Amino acid sequence: MKKQVVIVGGGPAGMLMGLLLARENIDVLVLEKNKSLERDFRGETIAPGSVYLLKKLGIFRELEKHGFVKVNKIKMYDRDEKLFSVDFDRFDHPQKFGIDIPQPVVLEAIKQQALKHPNFHYIDGALCMDLLKENDQVVGVRYKQEQDVKEIQSQLVIGAEGRFSRIRSLAGFRVKKENFSRDLIWFKVPKPANWEEGNLIKVHKHDHVIILPTYPNYLRVGTYIPLGGSAYIKSKSIDWFIDKVCRIEPRLREPMKEHITSWEDTTLLKIFTAHVDEWAKDGIILIGDSAHTLSPILGQGVNLAMQDAYELLPYVKDGLSTYKNRPIPASHFDEFVSKRKQQVSFVSGFQAQQEQNLAASSLIQCAIRKLKMRVLDRLPFKYAVMEKLQYGIFANEKVEV
Ligand SMILES: Cc1cc2nc3c(=O)[nH]c(=O)nc-3n(C[C@H](O)[C@H](O)[C@H](O)COP(=O)(O)OP(=O)(O)OC[C@H]3O[C@@H](n4cnc5c(N)ncnc54)[C@H](O)[C@@H]3O)c2cc1C
Repeated sequence: MKKQVVIVGGGPAGMLMGLLLARENIDVLVLEKNKSLERDFRGETIAPGSVYLLKKLGIFRELEKHGFVKVNKIKMYDRDEKLFSVDFDRFDHPQKFGIDIPQPVVLEAIKQQALKHPNFHYIDGALCMDLLKENDQVVGVRYKQEQDVKEIQSQLVIGAEGRFSRIRSLAGFRVKKENFSRDLIWFKVPKPANWEEGNLIKVHKHDHVIILPTYPNYLRVGTYIPLGGSAYIKSKSIDWFIDKVCRIEPRLREPMKEHITSWEDTTLLKIFTAHVDEWAKDGIILIGDSAHTLSPILGQGVNLAMQDAYELLPYVKDGLSTYKNRPIPASHFDEFVSKRKQQVSFVSGFQAQQEQNLAASSLIQCAIRKLKMRVLDRLPFKYAVMEKLQYGIFANEKVEV
């Protein structure tokens, strides 16, 4: 089999890339290893910039039919004292909210839209195992579907396999991985009555919790524990954990008492970040988490993944016609990679600052954090910076869609 483009991975980056290429009459195949779009929990917040993109592509209507939670505020408190807030209504951009919605719903809506184009092909249960190479150039992939091993040739392979990307190493990309110095625990509880907060970060001394309203009527709550999470939590009782969270946010005590009765009701996450130096080699390019895995702080992974796809589109179109039946050389993507790296580095720098704030432990560090956040809250360019973060490449595209 031969296709112009093969995409490995049907997550937000790969599925959207498939749709965008199919809309341009490019013959594209998406290979997804899972049989269904139900997947490991990967966060559910979609930033306003990507909501805007989904509106432009006519996908948002489908999401409205399903329903979602609007995300239009971020606030940070030291217990009850407000340190920092962002109200999305005050953005200049016409798209005034992000959304919280299960990721499989979004992927299904993109897939259904893509399937309307006859040149979009999607194979599930297809695990990509290897790259086909000729003269050091990538010319396709080898994948396994049930017991069959199949090969497919292409002018370009797009690696969108996510944080544990395998073809990234098969292609010889160098990856710099960094483990976080703490582990993260998540849990979900029904939203208490009268809860009107948007995304909430509450800090107090060396502790903090992040509370995100989540679809349909829950709160997703995260907090950090020292590294070596599973051994650590085995040494503590669940009541100790409830006390730890509720010292900062007492309104969570009742729902936690009822719904968090053992550690089984929580999820432990090892957080790591990964950065790849070059994103392209001859015949292959990486996008989304496989090129840049960031921390979950401020939920920007889907935003970056989708915008990678959107920004890559013209380069792929141009490369396919310029190089006809040959693999597109890595150098063709230099400009794209340089532009995207700037945005990724802006977001990861922002996250590193937030992580530093959250990790404050000594009295002095906590006092500096308080002062810093209060000053930041008053700075006139606060909204300009937050717009760049939340809208990415669409920050200056202020047209209602
Ligand atoms: C706990 C957690 C919470 C998060 N919360 C948020 C949030 O609220 N908002 C946000 O924007 N981001 C969040 N993120 C980050 C976000 O999930 C990712 O950045 C985003 O999913 C990246 O999209 P992607 O398409 O690059 O990769 P993925 O979503 O990981 O998709 C990769 C796809 O490739 C498939 N695949 C993998 N290997 C192969 C193979 N060999 N062959 C075929 N298919 C393969 C996988 O099955 C998967 O479907 C969170 C991440 C975590 C871990």
